Amino acid sequence: MTDFDLVIRADRVLIDGRWRAQALGVKDGVIARIGPRHAEWSALEIVSVPSDQVLIPGVVDTHVHVNEPGRTEWEGFATATRAAAAGGVTTIIDMPLNSIPPTTTVEALALKRKVAAPQASVDVGFWGGAIPASLGTLRPLHDEGVFGFKAFLSPSGVDEFPHLTASQLREALAETAEFGGMVIVHAEDPDRLESHGGGRYYEDFLASRPDTSETSAIAMVISALRATGGRAHILHLSSAKALNAIRGARAEGLQLTVETCPHYLVLDAGHIDDGATQFKCCPPVRDASNREALWEALLDGTIDFIASDHSPATPDLKLDGDFGRAWGGISGLQVMLAAVANGARERDIPLATALSWLTARPAAFAGLVDKGTIREGARADLVVFAPDRAWTVDPARLEHRHAVTAFGGRTLAGRTLRTWVGGRQAHPHIDEEPPPGRLLRRSAAAPERATAR
Ligand SMILES: [Zn+2]
Repeated sequence: MTDFDLVIRADRVLIDGRWRAQALGVKDGVIARIGPRHAEWSALEIVSVPSDQVLIPGVVDTHVHVNEPGRTEWEGFATATRAAAAGGVTTIIDMPLNSIPPTTTVEALALKRKVAAPQASVDVGFWGGAIPASLGTLRPLHDEGVFGFKAFLSPSGVDEFPHLTASQLREALAETAEFGGMVIVHAEDPDRLESHGGGRYYEDFLASRPDTSETSAIAMVISALRATGGRAHILHLSSAKALNAIRGARAEGLQLTVETCPHYLVLDAGHIDDGATQFKCCPPVRDASNREALWEALLDGTIDFIASDHSPATPDLKLDGDFGRAWGGISGLQVMLAAVANGARERDIPLATALSWLTARPAAFAGLVDKGTIREGARADLVVFAPDRAWTVDPARLEHRHAVTAFGGRTLAGRTLRTWVGGRQAHPHIDEEPPPGRLLRRSAAAPERATAR
């Protein structure tokens, strides 16, 4: 008998926001014990992390579009979760679109779970969808364990997921408030979006989705919160002009949270070439001063956390060259941790601070009480990360289904070397073994195992 299944020793383990020399004893998927670096424990496997590398909790990415079933040619569970593991992401929560059917019914959720279970290299949870046809029937999906309900205020880009009007948003917030749920909102106001955004020029595309489309939609969300007492979350905030309204809503005591994405923190409009539609996303990447204001808002707590909004499509749809026609979505799942760590380094923000926006904060947001943190009793979702190791993003070498990303060609400091999910190795990928991911329900206390294989 050994003490543990796995023991990991490292000079720098991130615990409570500090770096400490420790040994972790992992048993049955859980961090069973934390002790001194040289604790004399036995285990089936003992890993000693070199001193230039750190041991961190796995990243929790609450915003990923896997697209399977129905648009698996865009991205599927096997490729998405392998990309996640390779990038240090150990938990994803899948968006209700652009799979077909979208996750707006209990049957569609059951189908997603069945498809995801045997392929999941990392843990997978699911968002439900609030579309006009599903209003009034959200409760059954909530009871089936979705983490909340996604709604659009502007056209989503796919016909099977129509957007809500302002009054329908109020209905959705009132309905979810009855059972303690939340609505996560794609906040662009369709009345402020202009139709002339097509063509090769990024400037025209950007002008067609101005800051006011976000500020106006977020004002709508805030007034709906005030009217209903519900809980809402702003997805993929791009415009820093909305930050004051968000601060005000919080000061009022409204239940409002907000995320931004690595592409808004790393890229800027001034460096996007005309025709370079791999950079197209909605809302769009804005200018460099806007980008810096988003970093400030993370630091002052106005923005709660970072999520990838990984939303691939096939290369022919994505690399169209025309900003009107090309698919709006950026593939950032595998690159997110390195991109954020690198961006933090460039701004002299401590790595531990940046990691909180990728781990503990999103885990708390989603109610994943045993994730995003290294402590006794937490899931052994762990990552060996080399903060000083520089690498250049080669899209062809990413695990995403398609070799397209807005981060291609960038040199980033910070590389994921090894990932465990529930104490089992997820990266580097082991072919012979069933993948280690499980399916998650909103109440994370007793997630069910992904055993359908
Ligand atoms: Zn999205």
